[in-house]
Amino acid sequence: MRVFVASLATETNTFSPVPTDLSAFKAAFYAPPGQHPPTPTLCSAVVPALRSRRADGDFELVEGTCTWAEPGGLVKRQTYEELRDEILEQLRAALPVDAVVMGLHGAMVAQGYDDCEGDLLSHIRDCVGPDVVIGATFDPHSHLTAQRVRSLDAMNAFLEFPHTDFMERAKQLVDIVLRAARRDIKPVISTFDCRMIDVLPTSQQPLRGFVDRIVALQGTGRILSISLIHGFLAGNVADLGTQVVVVTDNDPDGGEHLAHDLGMEVFGFRGSTRMHTLSPEQAITRARDAIADPATTAPVVLADIWDNPGGGVAGDGTLLLSALIDAGIDNVGIATIWDPIAVAFCKAAGIGARIHLRIGGKAGPGGGDPIDADVEVRNVVDAAWQSFGESRVPLGASAVIRIAGTHIDIIVNTNRTQCFEPDIFSNLGIDPTAKDVLVVKSTNHFYAGFIGIAAAVLYVDAGTHYPSDPKRTRYTKLTRGIWPIVENPHDVT
Ligand SMILES: [Zn+2]
Repeated sequence: MRVFVASLATETNTFSPVPTDLSAFKAAFYAPPGQHPPTPTLCSAVVPALRSRRADGDFELVEGTCTWAEPGGLVKRQTYEELRDEILEQLRAALPVDAVVMGLHGAMVAQGYDDCEGDLLSHIRDCVGPDVVIGATFDPHSHLTAQRVRSLDAMNAFLEFPHTDFMERAKQLVDIVLRAARRDIKPVISTFDCRMIDVLPTSQQPLRGFVDRIVALQGTGRILSISLIHGFLAGNVADLGTQVVVVTDNDPDGGEHLAHDLGMEVFGFRGSTRMHTLSPEQAITRARDAIADPATTAPVVLADIWDNPGGGVAGDGTLLLSALIDAGIDNVGIATIWDPIAVAFCKAAGIGARIHLRIGGKAGPGGGDPIDADVEVRNVVDAAWQSFGESRVPLGASAVIRIAGTHIDIIVNTNRTQCFEPDIFSNLGIDPTAKDVLVVKSTNHFYAGFIGIAAAVLYVDAGTHYPSDPKRTRYTKLTRGIWPIVENPHDVT
C-alpha cells in the first residue's frame, strides 16, 4: 500500500492589508519532500502521524511539500498555483497510490480562487481517480464547501479552540484513511449548515460541554468522526459560516440526522459563546486593582484579541499599549508588535543603545497610530521563536525594547505571528512571571499556555481593523442568509 501526504495551508483574512506571497510561506514554514521536521506544525501534523504509523510497516509513505504562511491578506494567484502544482506534480510522480492525506487549513483565499482547498482537492481527485481514498485535516476556522466534500472521503477538523488537539485529530484522520484504504470501512461525509457565524471558544461553556459530548460520540455505532467547522469571520466568501460534519462508516442517513441535531444545538448557542470582553480602560482598571492587591503574585494577562496576526491582521496595533502608557502602568511585557522597520533599526543600533523609535501602527488604519518613544534596545536576536505545544513557531529577527523611564518591555518582530506561550518572553530574556501585566496578541490560542502563570486573564476589545462584528462587515459574496446578518435563517417559528 502507498500513501501520499502533503500540506498547503494558510488562513486568509480577505480584509487584511498584508498581501501573502511565496516569501510568506518560506518565512513561516516550508518543508520540501522528506524535510518535514519530526515535530508537527498546526496543519501538517498528518506527516508525523503517518510516519509513526508507517513504523508498523504495512505501507509505504511518499511525502510531498508541506508549507504554511502566517494568516494574512489575499494570497497572490501565482503563489497558490505554484504551490498547488508543485504538490500535484509530486503526487503524479508517486502514482499509483492507495490513499492521499492532506494537511489543510481551509480558509485560504487567493486572487481568483475563493476556495483554494476545494480547487486543490478536486485536482487531486482528478489525478488519482474515484477509488483512491482522500482524507484531509482542517482548522475549524475555515469555510466548508460542496467542492471539498465532493472530492473527499473523510475529513477532520480540530475540535478544540485553542487548537490543543491538532496532533490527536491528525492521528484520528490517518487511522480512518488507512482503514478505508484497506477496505475495512467505507467513510461517508454528512454535513449540516448551521447558517450562523460567531466566535466559539471551547475553553468555556457552552462549547466545552458540546465538544466533550462529540468526543464521547465518536467511535460509537457507525460514527467515525465528528467536526464542527466554526467558520472564519474575516473571509469574504460564499460559504462563510458554521457547519457540522459527521463521517460515518457508510451510514449517510444516520450521519445526516446526527449532523442536523448537533447543528441545530449549536445554532441555539448563537450569541452566547463569545469570550466576555472589556474595553482597554475597563481592563486597565481591573489590572491596576490586581497589582495593588498584595495577594496578587502573578501577572495579569491582557489578551488583545482582535489585533491577532493569527487572524490575518498586521499585528502592529498600538491601542492597548498607548492606553497602558497613558494609565502609567509601569511593569509590562508585550508580545508582540510586528514591526520589521523597528527591528532593523534596533539591530543597527545594537544591544544597549538608546534610540528614538517609531513603534507599530504602520501597516494600515484601525489599529492605532505609531508610538514615538525613547527606548533602550534590551536584546536583538536573528531567529527568535516560541513554542506552540510540540511545535516551534518562528518570530524571525526580533528585538526587545524598553520604553525609557518605565519597565514596559516590548517584543518587536519580523515574522508576523500570534502569541502562543510564555516562552515567547523568556526566550528573549524577559521573565514573564516578574511582570505585573502581560499583553498577548491572540484571540484564544494563548490561553492554554498562559493560564498557568496568570493571576487573571482578561479579554480586551481594543479596536482593530479585524472584521469582528459580522453585522457591520461588508460580506458581498454570501449566497444564503446567516445569523446575525439575518435573524432567523432556518425559518424556525
Ligand atoms: Zn483556528
